[in-house]
Amino acid sequence: MEIDLKNEIITDKHGRKFFAQPTNGQLHIVNRGFHYHGTTAFTHANDIFNLINTMKQRPSILALTCDNGPDYCPNSYLVFIAFAMLWKKCNLDQILIASYAPRSSKNNRIELAWGTANQALAQTILCPESKNLDNESEPVRKDVFKKALNELNVIWNKTSYSSKLIQSRSILPGETESPFTDKEYEEFKDVFENGPKSDYYTKYKSEIKFLFRHTYRRGYFLHIKKCLDINCLHCRNTVKHQELLEELDSYDENGTLLRPVFLTQLYDGKHYPSFVDMVESKTLHQKVREKISKEIKENPSDFEKCHWCSWYFQTKNDKKKHRFFCP
Ligand SMILES: [Zn+2]
Ligand SMILES: [Zn+2]
Repeated sequence: MEIDLKNEIITDKHGRKFFAQPTNGQLHIVNRGFHYHGTTAFTHANDIFNLINTMKQRPSILALTCDNGPDYCPNSYLVFIAFAMLWKKCNLDQILIASYAPRSSKNNRIELAWGTANQALAQTILCPESKNLDNESEPVRKDVFKKALNELNVIWNKTSYSSKLIQSRSILPGETESPFTDKEYEEFKDVFENGPKSDYYTKYKSEIKFLFRHTYRRGYFLHIKKCLDINCLHCRNTVKHQELLEELDSYDENGTLLRPVFLTQLYDGKHYPSFVDMVESKTLHQKVREKISKEIKENPSDFEKCHWCSWYFQTKNDKKKHRFFCP
């Protein structure tokens, strides 16, 4: 779902200031017939790539709120590689991917939108004439899926959500997905599973290393962005919003958004200080940075980071996998 940004600041019951949560936007749906196409991090990256290409004004920064499913979870290596390749291919300044913590996923806007989309399908049977596809020949089955996927588009393209008609499209049986292919997906999967033992290790190693170098990763959060290194051929002279990257560099030592922490002297140590409050108060911002440094100093093993890039290890296996590529 494409969200219309609101430039409105609200105050909650604790007096914290927030950007108002946007509620409206354009809902896009991409349908796939499960017999022919699965969904992976790569197919999501393809969907976003194709969506960006239809936009009159192409974005230079993408912020994605996702659920923690395996094909969107910011902790997954395949999600990292899919969106890092998307960042590079679309020449974006930044991509931020965050997911709600497990028990808060109901706050995701898509949950609400999905209710409307489901409602529109109530009592609908797609292709009612075809009852048992198992006994049908492949061309007949293909045809049924094609029809069903087109019917879905017809229904959803006349359904409105948040005052806009849903934009539904389908990947039809036999259609090849691009620019990120299933073949590449399988190869990267093999590289991340087997490291140097994989047949594709040499093919992708330097690319993965390059993408790690432009990524910050911690639990539930992935931030891929252009660097300000004048020797980087990809980023040099291509940054659209240099001031934002510089601002982030002065905001946090990793050049990203700060990890949320509780401060005992604020809100009984039970609620996080907000981003807007930290931007408005240098003292608060400083206190949060000090608390983060203190937590890292006290529990270094919980916050172990690659010394070459900004990747915080989540597990021992994560560290092992990461070392296949980063020195
Ligand atoms: Zn760079
Ligand atoms: Zn690294």
